[in-house]
Amino acid sequence: MTKMIWGLSKAATNYRPATRPEVRCEQCRFMFPRLSIGGCRYVRGVIRADDTCDEFVSRR
Ligand code: SF4
Repeated sequence: MTKMIWGLSKAATNYRPATRPEVRCEQCRFMFPRLSIGGCRYVRGVIRADDTCDEFVSRR
């Protein structure tokens, strides 16, 4: 799927609190800056480091 920058809503990606630390936004390659509060390349709105969504991709 080709994703547009800020093309996804939190609802569409099932944005939610992360239940496992390894899938937190702070571990995802799309969060910037990786502070406690930041943004995401694809999901619109304020992104929290300890949340996650279905578009998660590990930085490693
Ligand atoms: S887990 Fe989802 S909301 Fe969080 S940074 Fe990755 S793509 Fe964005």
